[in-house]
Amino acid sequence: MKKSLIIATFNAHKAGEIRAILPSLPLRLRTLAEFPEAAPAAEDGVTLEENAVKKASAAARFTGSWALADDTGLEVDALGGAPGVRSARYAGENASGADNNARLLGELAGVPDARRSARFATVMALVSPSGEIALSRGVLEGRITLAPRGVNGFGYDPLFEPEGSALTLAELPDAKKNVLSHRARALAGLLPLLQKLR
Ligand code: IMP
Repeated sequence: MKKSLIIATFNAHKAGEIRAILPSLPLRLRTLAEFPEAAPAAEDGVTLEENAVKKASAAARFTGSWALADDTGLEVDALGGAPGVRSARYAGENASGADNNARLLGELAGVPDARRSARFATVMALVSPSGEIALSRGVLEGRITLAPRGVNGFGYDPLFEPEGSALTLAELPDAKKNVLSHRARALAGLLPLLQKLR
């Protein structure tokens, strides 16, 4: 029987991207959505690392399997690095992606193109059933657009143009986002370990 690797998220978009990025592995990939009793871990850490470890550790403890979790933040230079680790709750506790995007555009009103640089950072944590932790960080540089464009992806994707691209992440096909994204870069650092799991 194949061992399970739990993708520790309830976010179907995020889980879909992780599945699409990972090469074929001799593991059974499952998400927390398949465990009706699993509760979301509190994302109250002050760093992406802390939150990624919290999510993966809770899932590994709960399921007894290896678990993989990412925590992602959007760092906008003109806002001193905000929303950063608070990206999910930027417009309030239960904010939707559209709410967060509206707040971001509001905060950047009047900021010219040349000062709209930003980056996505993802920290990916892999935690073993006995609690050993491996971490990897991936970064994608880019800029915040003046208005949302595109319908692919999720979250802040319609407002983010990767460096060297005239299209936002939400205008790029999924396959293109998944080659260059912060999430793909973070996962690349864990691949040697993931490929050894049996
Ligand atoms: P978390 O990693 O699930 O805590 O996500 C933090 C926030 O960033 C949420 O509002 C997500 O919707 C958003 N987010 C996470 N990953 C991405 C991405 O790849 N593109 C755009 N937004 C993202």
